[in-house]
Amino acid sequence: MFRNALRSGVLYGILRAINEWYAIVVLWVYVLLFFAALGLIFVFPPAPLAMVFLGVVGLGLANVVSKALHGLQHAVARRMINHGECPRCRQTNQYGQPEDRFICVRCNTVFLPRGDEVDANLEQPRVA
Ligand SMILES: [Zn+2]
Repeated sequence: MFRNALRSGVLYGILRAINEWYAIVVLWVYVLLFFAALGLIFVFPPAPLAMVFLGVVGLGLANVVSKALHGLQHAVARRMINHGECPRCRQTNQYGQPEDRFICVRCNTVFLPRGDEVDANLEQPRVA
């Protein structure tokens, strides 16, 4: 059951969408908290000071969560590729793949062995 979930293109799509939006959502949370702290200066001055330290700790935590989500996305991609299945479009039976990358015959998405999705135009991993 869990092993099938790891091969699910739906799971890959969800993780890909989360990873795509994660950084901008974290940024906007910090921008909103900045304005909240700005308002709190006049109401309860120690609170913004505490928020600065919590913000620094939260940034480290957000980074760890980001790395974990990317690792999970790569793991799902690797598992699907090992079964000859494209993580993006779920096309199967893809033979004759080059050694150093996986190129989908249907949607032309390129994956590196680590599970990174590559932008074919830039030849760079899509996700850092
Ligand atoms: Zn594909």
